[in-house]
Amino acid sequence: MVMGDLVDEIDVAVLGGGPGGYSAAFRCAELGLETVVVDATRRLGGACLFEGCIPSKALLHISAVLSEAERAREFGIDFGEPRISLDPLRKWKQERVVGRLARGLASMARAKGVEVVGGRGAFEDSTTLRIEDGEALRKIRFKHAIIATGSRPGPLPGVTLQSDRVMDSAAALELPEIPERLLVVGGGYIGLELGTVYATLGSRVSLVEMTDGLLPGVDRDLVQPLHRRVEKLFAAVHLRTKVTALREVGAEIEAEVEGLGVQRFDRVLIAVGRRAQSGGLGLEATRVRLADRSGFILVDDRCRTDDPHIYAVGDVTGEPMLAHRAMRQGKVAAEVLAGQPSAFDNASIPAVVFTDPEIAWCGLSEAQAKGQGIDAKVAKFQWAASGRAATIGRSDGLTKLVADAGSGRVIGVGIVGPGAGELIAEATLAVETAALVEDVAATIHAHPTLSETLMEAAESLLG
Ligand code: NAD
Repeated sequence: MVMGDLVDEIDVAVLGGGPGGYSAAFRCAELGLETVVVDATRRLGGACLFEGCIPSKALLHISAVLSEAERAREFGIDFGEPRISLDPLRKWKQERVVGRLARGLASMARAKGVEVVGGRGAFEDSTTLRIEDGEALRKIRFKHAIIATGSRPGPLPGVTLQSDRVMDSAAALELPEIPERLLVVGGGYIGLELGTVYATLGSRVSLVEMTDGLLPGVDRDLVQPLHRRVEKLFAAVHLRTKVTALREVGAEIEAEVEGLGVQRFDRVLIAVGRRAQSGGLGLEATRVRLADRSGFILVDDRCRTDDPHIYAVGDVTGEPMLAHRAMRQGKVAAEVLAGQPSAFDNASIPAVVFTDPEIAWCGLSEAQAKGQGIDAKVAKFQWAASGRAATIGRSDGLTKLVADAGSGRVIGVGIVGPGAGELIAEATLAVETAALVEDVAATIHAHPTLSETLMEAAESLLG
């Protein structure tokens, strides 16, 4: 790096050190480009590692252990009432899971020669970033920049209360306590995953969802088994309902819930969607353009913005806001700016909701295929007919396969059941590589495994 008058000249500046940013930076370094990552936290990992995917999955693993122990009573095994010690639990999540992975990313950055700069970056023009870290100011002049600033929790409309008792996902993942009564606003990914965590730890969880079903937009056949489970696990699930006001009264939060009047809770989790973090980046000094209302940065399939020097990847570029989409985009952006013929043209992005049962899907759902006028054939394989599902006492799952009737190609798969998040990988490969239903049916799947359910669904489509 050549130091000038407080100005460094480099090949690539990556703004944001989450999965999109570090994937982009590592790929740039592998391609021989001098690369720095600018992140306010001075660490790599982003929301995914520090306040999202990873800590939530660590807590969901604990939920799964608790649920399995309870289920084991059906098999004649009683572990007794669990005793939960929050301090060791938090320490395990923070040090053994999050801390270990953060150290791994830091050492990978060192090994690849990627510098991580602490501070808030904003563009001065299309080739200069100004980075403020407290009193310190640094400028970086770059040939290319990649914006990977992610997203942040969106607010609950009309509710302005600031209180430790009103949490977003990051605060809830800190596990400040196990509240006796928890209100979850939003029946999407976060509401369901963290609602599950708190409910299995012992909170009475009430969930309020504005639309007429959990996980709006997801295939109802997949959501139904989860809905049944959540109705048992949670104290209440209110659909077509909104929370119109929150007030702090002593150590309680009073919530005005449409149609139900005033209800009292010890804590509230707000999970009503996330918003792009594209504000305050100085984009007006560049040619980068934003989509009007959402604030998403507009990019093409090479992750190029309207400014020839600037690329963007991940949540800040739109839905679906998933870490694995950001990672793939990060690699694409790096390869494109290095002059390689790369594009973000994947046929499908898998999605996984890590609840119990898990829900996972990829490609087109039955409704989407029909909506696009595709002559689609659909097979549903109920796990009640799966030997493996019987051995783990989980016959409530379903594997659904959508195929194009004309070509015989697999165009979408949805799975609900334990392990769906792992099982979806084979389905994603099938969709991505345009596998035929016949290919899936003729592939030998180990017996007895849940993976056989995809083969069985394919066989039933072939009649
Ligand atoms: P979401 O979009 O998944 O769900 C938000 C839910 O809140 C929706 O069901 C919506 O109808 C409801 N809602 C909106 N306004 C409301 C209101 N005023 N009152 C009641 N309900 C309301 O959003 P999220 O759960 O906040 O998660 C944000 C994003 O983070 C997700 O879309 C996803 O991209 C990502 N995420 C992914 C995972 C995963 O991959 N497993 C996990 C967590 C988060």
